[in-house]
Amino acid sequence: MTKLVHSIRTLKDIVDQSLIKTGLFIGGRWSSGDEKFPVLNPATEQILCEVTSANIDDANLAITCAQKAWPSYRQSLPDLRYLYLSKWAALIENNLEDLALLLTLEQGKPLAEALGEVAFAQRYAIWYAEQAKRIEGHTVAPHADNLELLVEKIPVGIGAAITPWNFPASMVTRKLAPALAAGCPVVLKPSEDTPLIAAALIELLHRAGLPAGVVNLLPTSREQAPALGKVFTSSNCIKKISFTGSAYVGKQLLRQAAGQVQRVSMELGGNAPSIIFEDADLQSAVDHVCATKFRNAGQVCIATNRILVHRSIFPAFIQLLQAKISMLVPGNGLTPGVTLGPVINQRALDRIHNLVIKAQEQGAKVLCGGVRLDQSGYFYAPTLITDVLPENCLFKEEIFGPVAAVSVFDTESEAITLANNSQCGLAAYFYSENANRCRRVSQALEAGMVGQNCSAMTNERMPFGGLKQSGIGSEGGVEGIEEWLDTRFHCRAYAN
Ligand code: ADP
Repeated sequence: MTKLVHSIRTLKDIVDQSLIKTGLFIGGRWSSGDEKFPVLNPATEQILCEVTSANIDDANLAITCAQKAWPSYRQSLPDLRYLYLSKWAALIENNLEDLALLLTLEQGKPLAEALGEVAFAQRYAIWYAEQAKRIEGHTVAPHADNLELLVEKIPVGIGAAITPWNFPASMVTRKLAPALAAGCPVVLKPSEDTPLIAAALIELLHRAGLPAGVVNLLPTSREQAPALGKVFTSSNCIKKISFTGSAYVGKQLLRQAAGQVQRVSMELGGNAPSIIFEDADLQSAVDHVCATKFRNAGQVCIATNRILVHRSIFPAFIQLLQAKISMLVPGNGLTPGVTLGPVINQRALDRIHNLVIKAQEQGAKVLCGGVRLDQSGYFYAPTLITDVLPENCLFKEEIFGPVAAVSVFDTESEAITLANNSQCGLAAYFYSENANRCRRVSQALEAGMVGQNCSAMTNERMPFGGLKQSGIGSEGGVEGIEEWLDTRFHCRAYAN
C-alpha cells in the first residue's frame, strides 16, 4: 500500500478568497449568525472552518424572500434566464481550479475528480441556460368549431432543494439550473458536510446578476436539518421538493410533502449490479467495474454495488480485478497521483466497516482490504470480497464505500433474476460481446439507467433517475426541466 502523504494546501490557497462564504445567503445578501457548525477536511480530520447554521426563522425568511421574487421572476423572459445561467456557467469555468480545490478540501475526492465534477456542474448550467428557450406548449384539435385549445407550460413555483455531499457541486447545478431556467425561485439546503462548495456556487450565481431572493442558501447542522425539512414541507409557498439523499430521509420527506401536495423529485440511491457474462471482453469489463466501484471512494449512487460474474470466468476475473485494485493509490486528494480519497466522515467509515464485518459473519471472504487505513483521515482500504450470496448484507444494502462485493451465477436468466433482486432500480451495468444477449439483457434489467459495456454514462443531456424505490422523477436532459413545470390548458371560445 502506498504511504499516505498529506498535502499542506488549505483554504488559504484558494486564489479568490471571496469565494469562501461561511454564512447564509438570503434575499440577495450574505449574513452570519451565532449558531455555527464545523466543516472538516475528511483527509485530515482537521476543521476547515465554521459555518453559520440556519434556523427555522432563517428558513422562513428565505421563503418570504423567494415569494417576493416570484411574481417578477416567473414572468422574466427566457432570454434573461438564459443570460443569468450562461453567465453563471462562464463564472464557474473561470473559477474552475478554486472550486475544485474547495471541493477536494471539504469532500476528499482526488483533485482530478473534483476538476471533473466542477466541469460537469458547469455543463448543467449551460445546458439549462439553453433549455430555458425551449419551453414549449402545443395546440390541440378543438371539439367545436369556435374553440381554440392551448396547452402551456408554467413554472411550478418556489422550490426547496436538499443536496447531498457526494457530488456537492454538480447536485447544486443539476437542481438549480433547471429550476431557474423554468422560472422557479429556490431555497437550497446543502449537506452539512459540504456547505462551502455550494456557497461558492451561490456567490457566483449572485455575481451573474440573479435578482435578490430568487436563490437563497441555508446551510445548517445535521441536528437542525430535520427542522428545516419540516419548514419546507409545511409551507404552502413551497410547491416542490427536490431531494437527493438516503431512502430513509427521502421517505420521510415524501410523507411530509403529502400534507401540502407538493411536487417531488426524489433520488434515493441504488444497488447497481454489474453483470460480467462469459462472453465479455474481460479486461475491459474489469476496467469499467473498477471505475464504477472506486470513483469517489465508492460514494456514488450509481456505483457498482453487486458484481455478478459468470462462474466459468470467475478465477480470471478475480485475478484481474485484484491486480487493478492493487494499483489504486489511497491518500489525500490534493497529493499528485492519489486515486482514492477518504470517505466523508467517521459515521460513514464505521458504517462501511460494520458492513464488511457482518458480511464475513454471513460467509463472505475478504481477499484484500477489509480494514480502516492506519492513518488520520477517514480512509478505508480498497476491499475485495467474494462469496457474497443474495442473503448477504453487501448484496442487499448500498455499500457507498470502496468495497467490491462479488457473487457468481451460472445462466443468463439467473443473472437477470439476481440483478433485479433489489428494491432499488437506479443504475445497472452489464458486459457481453453478444449483440443478441445485449438486447435481451438491457430490456430485462429493472433500472432507470442501463450501461452496456461502459461505465461513464452520466451526462447533462441524459435523464438521471431511478425505477422502483430509487426515486421519482429525472434530473438532467430535456426531462429535467419538466420537473419544474406545470401544465395549464386553455379552452378559448370565440364568436363565429
Ligand atoms: P447521508 O446520510 O448520506 O448524509 P442523508 O439523506 O441523511 O444522507 O442526507 C442528505 C441530505 O438530506 C443532507 O443535505 C442532509 O442534511 C439532509 N437531511 C437529513 N435529514 C433530513 C431531514 N429530516 N429533513 C430534511 N433534510 C434532511
